[in-house]
Amino acid sequence: IDFIQALQLEGNKEKKEDEEKSEYQKIRMTIEETKKSLPVYPFRDSLIEAIKNYQILIVEGETGSGKTTQIPQYLHEAGFTEDGKKIGCTQPRRVAAMSVAARVAQEMNVKLGNEVGYSIRFEDCTSDRTVIKYMTDGTLHREFLSEPDLASYSVMIIDEAHERTLHTDILFGLVKDITRFRPDLKLLISSATLDAEKFSNFFDEAPIFRIPGRRFPVDIYYTKAPEADYVDASVVSILQIHATQPLGDILVFLTGQEEIETCVEMLQDRTKRLGKKIKELLILPVYANLPSDMQAKIFEPTPEGARKVVLATNIAETSLTIDNIIYVIDPGFAKQNNFNSKTGMESLMVVPISKASANQRAGRAGRVAPGKCFRLYTAWAYKYELEDNTVPEIQRINLGNAVLTLKALGINDLIHFDFLDPPPHETLVLALEQLYALGALNHHGELTKAGRRMAEFPTDPMLAKMLLASEKYKCSEDVVSIAAMLSVNSSVFYRPKDKIIHADTARKNFFHRNGDHLTLMNVYNQWVGSDYSVQWCYENFIQYRSMKRARDVREQLVGLMERVEIDMVSSISDDTNIRKAITAGYFYHIAKFSKGGHYKTVKHNQTVMIHPNSALFEELPRWVIYHELVFTSKEFMRQVTEIESKWLLEVAPHYYKSNELEDSTNKKMPKTLGKSASK
Ligand code: ADP
Ligand code: MG
Repeated sequence: IDFIQALQLEGNKEKKEDEEKSEYQKIRMTIEETKKSLPVYPFRDSLIEAIKNYQILIVEGETGSGKTTQIPQYLHEAGFTEDGKKIGCTQPRRVAAMSVAARVAQEMNVKLGNEVGYSIRFEDCTSDRTVIKYMTDGTLHREFLSEPDLASYSVMIIDEAHERTLHTDILFGLVKDITRFRPDLKLLISSATLDAEKFSNFFDEAPIFRIPGRRFPVDIYYTKAPEADYVDASVVSILQIHATQPLGDILVFLTGQEEIETCVEMLQDRTKRLGKKIKELLILPVYANLPSDMQAKIFEPTPEGARKVVLATNIAETSLTIDNIIYVIDPGFAKQNNFNSKTGMESLMVVPISKASANQRAGRAGRVAPGKCFRLYTAWAYKYELEDNTVPEIQRINLGNAVLTLKALGINDLIHFDFLDPPPHETLVLALEQLYALGALNHHGELTKAGRRMAEFPTDPMLAKMLLASEKYKCSEDVVSIAAMLSVNSSVFYRPKDKIIHADTARKNFFHRNGDHLTLMNVYNQWVGSDYSVQWCYENFIQYRSMKRARDVREQLVGLMERVEIDMVSSISDDTNIRKAITAGYFYHIAKFSKGGHYKTVKHNQTVMIHPNSALFEELPRWVIYHELVFTSKEFMRQVTEIESKWLLEVAPHYYKSNELEDSTNKKMPKTLGKSASK
C-alpha cells in the first residue's frame, strides 16, 4: 500500500514524540473525572434551563461530547423523573442501546436493568424501577401501539437523529404530533452533525442548543491506486501502523461480522508469526450480534505499552465512542439495505460510503489528540465518486413493516403523514400493495383482522404472515423455530479458516433435502435434543451464542403467538405443511429455474443464484422460495427451500395466476447440468 512509505519516513521523526509519553496515556481518569471532562459538562445548567423553557429542543454536538450518556443523567438529577415518569432515549442500533445503558448504569453505580435499563427487539432489560430507558428507535415505534401518548415518559430523546433510519424518521412525525396534546412532555432531538437547522424547521422552529466540539486535527492519507481487497489492505495497514507509529489505538471500519471475523483471523495469524518482534496488539471486534461481554472489552483501557485495534462496522461511526483512538483505517464501504421499488426486490449490499460518513470516520481519530486517517481509496475517488450524503433509509428501503405499524396506530392517510423527507410515492404504494397481498389490508387500505394480528409481531410482515399461516398448516412449533433461526441465520454455522473442511462437513450433516429453512430447523431441534449443550455446538461447528439467542427469540415469539391465540403444534413428520406456511408468507420471494442455467424471479424476471452455502446448491429444484437476496459478485438467494408452484395458487391466489406458474412439474434438473449451470 503506497501511503506506507510516507509513514515510514515520518516514523523516524515521530519516534521522539513517542518517548515523551504519548497524549493518550495521560488520559486515564476515574469515572467522575471523565464525566467532568466531557464537552457537554460545562453546559449542564444552561442545557437544563433550556429544556425547562422549551418543549422541544434540538441538541447538536460532536460524537463523544456526552450527549447520549450524560443528558439523561442530568435530567434525572434535575428532577425530571420525580413524578414517577421516565426519561426515554432512542438509538438506531441495538448494540449502542445496550452498551450505553451499561455505561450509564456503571456511572450511576446501579445494576443494569434497575434504575437504568434498555429495551431492544426480543429483549427487555428494564423493571418497574427504571427511570432512564435506552431503546432502539424500532422499539419506541412499537411502544406507540400500547401507549399512544407515551404517558409514562416525562422526556423523550430521539438520539442520533442524523442517522436518519426509517424508524427514527417515522418517530419524528409521531412525537411531533404528541407534543401538541401533551404539553408536559419534553422532546429532545439530538444529532452529531450539522443538520440541526433542518430538524429545527421540521419541529416548528425549535431552538438549537449547540455543544461546542473539540476536535484535534486529523491528517488524511489516501492510497495512490484503488485497493482490490480492502480486508487484506486493512490488515497490512494495521500492522504497518503498529510497526512504525507511536502508540495510540486503531479503529478500522469494515462492513459486517463475516468480514470482521476474517480480519481478526488474518491479524492473529500474522501477529503470531511476528511474535516478539512487535509490541502487544489487542484485537477487538465489534458488530451488532457480538455478545455484550465482548462488546464491553472495546471500552477497557489498553494496557501500558500495548496497542488496541478495534474492528468495527459503521456502528463506531457515531453511535459508539471508543476513547483514545488515534488512527482510523477507512476502506470506504458499508453494508446497506436497498430496495428497488421497480422490482419490489430488497437486497443487502456493500456500497461505497458518502463523504459525510468518510468525514465522521476520520473524526474518530481526533478526539483526544491529533490523529491520522488512512483512507483505502484514492483522493480522486473521494472527490468524484462518493456522494455527499447517505440517502435516508426511508427513501431507499421497503416500507412494509413501517406502514403496517402506522396502520395499526390508526394512521390511515400515509400520503399526508408528516414526514421530514417523504418516501418515494411508488415505494409507499408498493408497501400498501404488499400488505394487501399478504391479507393485512383490505381493498380500502384498512387494516384487516389478520393485519392486526400481524402487527403484534415486531418483524417483517412476510415473517409475521408466515407465523400466522402456521396456524392453518398446524406447524406453529416448527415455524417458530425457523423464524427464530432466521433471525440469527448468518451466524449459526461456525467456519474457522483452518478447519473449513471439517466445518463444512458438519454443516452438511444438518442438510435437509428440501432446503435451508428445514436445515435450520434441524439444527435447532437437534440442539434442543442435546439439552441445549455447549459441547454439542462445539462438536458440530455451531455457534453456541447464536443458538442461545435463537432460543431467546423463540421464547418471545411463542409469547406473541399466545397473544394472537395460536396453539403450538408440530407437523414435523410432514414438512409439506411447514413449507406451505413459509410460502404463505414469502410468496413474493419465488424463483424458478430457467433455461440459461440460473434462476429467475417469477414476477420480475431477475436473474438470481442459489448461495453456495445452501443445501440446494447442487440440487437446483425447479421452484424455490428464498428468505433474502444478498448481492456480492452476483445476486444470491440465501436460505432457499424447494416448493411446488401449485402451492402458490393455494396461499396467494390473488397474487399469482396459473399461467404464470405453468411448467409446474417440479422435476429436478439432472445433476450434471445443475453443476455446470451453477458455475
Ligand atoms: P455522544 O452521545 O455525544 O456521542 P457519549 O455520551 O456516547 O457521547 O460518550 C461520552 C463518553 O462516554 C465517551 O468518552 C465514551 O467513550 C464514553 N462511553 C460511552 N459508552 C461507554 C461504555 N460502554 N463504556 C465506557 N465508556 C463509554
Ligand atoms: Mg451518542
